[in-house]
Amino acid sequence: MKQVKNSSSNKILRIQRERLIQQLHHQGIKSSKVLEAMRTIPRHLFIDEALSAHAYANHALPIGYGQTISQPYIVARMTEALLSKGPLDTVLEVGTGCGYQTAILAQLVGKVYSVERMKRLSEKAHKRLNLLGINNVQLHHSDGRWGRTENAPYQGIIVTAAPPKIPNALLEQLALGGCLIIPVGDSNRQKLLKIIRNRLHHYEQHLLEEVKFVPLREGLS
Ligand code: SAH
Repeated sequence: MKQVKNSSSNKILRIQRERLIQQLHHQGIKSSKVLEAMRTIPRHLFIDEALSAHAYANHALPIGYGQTISQPYIVARMTEALLSKGPLDTVLEVGTGCGYQTAILAQLVGKVYSVERMKRLSEKAHKRLNLLGINNVQLHHSDGRWGRTENAPYQGIIVTAAPPKIPNALLEQLALGGCLIIPVGDSNRQKLLKIIRNRLHHYEQHLLEEVKFVPLREGLS
């Protein structure tokens, strides 16, 4: 009986996931690789079971500790922007949260380093990614405002919490030709920026859109 119920609810979740992919496509996400990664990764496994009926609605959801899982459209948009110049070997993610964006990136790039300041979230994400058999990811409990010098430079850096201004460490740890995607602004509203490091001391900036992320905070918890 349980099995029958599980398989029918899994089928419903699969249908909802497919609808979400169509919606993302209509919203302007063109990369078939990004859409395929979002089709592959089950978002409902990254949130509380009580919320799984909402897993494939196109909005952010709470993941506990005052944090959120980002809206699917924003995950797709940031990932597409990060990969716009072609495939990447090494990517740093700041703000692992539940690990959903990490899992999407892991389908598309060589290696993902992801840092999170909240130990409980990092541990939970670690378990989920292991269960899904994702093994090209390294998670660390650390303050992402300092980037992660150990594995720098990165061809891509993606930040999923908003600082008031771009941390210098992230600019410095970007490889030449590398791309940084980051929301910047106060706690009410931020600008999602794409920064390309053209030359050693030259960065090109593009505005992607207005967004609302949780703040990038100081220190560990
Ligand atoms: N990437 C997530 C979004 C998580 S929300 C997703 O897939 O949906 C942003 C996360 O950034 C939170 O978990 C928060 O704890 C974390 N964060 C905030 N400030 C940070 C910092 N200085 N260093 C690392 N992580 C930080």
